[in-house]
Amino acid sequence: MRTALVGLLLLASVACAPRYRSKESLRSLTVTAEGGQVVRVQYWPDDAASAEQVSQAIPAALARLRPWGKLAVPVTITLYPSHEAFEAAIYREGYGWLRAWARYDTIDLQSPRSWALFVGPEQKDVEELLTHELTHCIMYQQAGSEWSWPYKGIPLWFREGMASVAADQGHRRKSPEFIYGFYSSSSPTSGSGDGAGEGGTAVRSNGDPVSDPEPLYQSDQEVVYASAHWAFQFLLDRYGMERVRKILDEMNDGRLFNAAFQSAIGIPPDEFEADFRKYILWRGWER
Ligand SMILES: [Zn+2]
Repeated sequence: MRTALVGLLLLASVACAPRYRSKESLRSLTVTAEGGQVVRVQYWPDDAASAEQVSQAIPAALARLRPWGKLAVPVTITLYPSHEAFEAAIYREGYGWLRAWARYDTIDLQSPRSWALFVGPEQKDVEELLTHELTHCIMYQQAGSEWSWPYKGIPLWFREGMASVAADQGHRRKSPEFIYGFYSSSSPTSGSGDGAGEGGTAVRSNGDPVSDPEPLYQSDQEVVYASAHWAFQFLLDRYGMERVRKILDEMNDGRLFNAAFQSAIGIPPDEFEADFRKYILWRGWER
């Protein structure tokens, strides 16, 4: 009985061997959306249904992004059959919550088929995620060239905030109240002083969700994404869509993010980040 079970398990593992690594079996679909925007979807045979679902979501996602701009060059989306395969493709480990990684003209995507154990996601969820990821591509393509985009110095709160707001993901984000709670518990002037972990109010010395998010990104992604979303919404509410879009135009003209922001908004980004922190600490969303 045991041998039979081992045999079965072996068979199963052979059946699940990483066929996705072979480039020969890679297939693709090409979607041409409004304005001649082109997105190619690459996938391995097991993900044919997911590739279809993704392809169907692309025109709707790009239509939602019309106010923000359009793709200047074609984007290739690659579907990976499991979370492990996806993490291997983006050279990261331990980001169980991450589903996609966008660059200038590529999106690596964990196949929607594998997002949950038993049921595939609804079309609206796939469309929402694609809207978010395609925002990144549109932003990077407007901000720079194929070579210059990673060097523009676009802060994480702006990248993720714009994508989250454009995809209307406020319903997924924690509230400003949650960010307030984070700041309150991490401020050196409150809580238990310097005894991190003592008295139940640990004092954080590393990372601010807006101005220094990297130390928090992997383990405190909820506060990082919530802060990005509400900071970007705060920027839009205060300065308006036209001036926010001007930041992208200024980068397109060759400026780095800080100079583009200063020119379009009138204050440097760190002053804006401090204003957002005050808005949270003074509970500005309640007024
Ligand atoms: Zn994102």
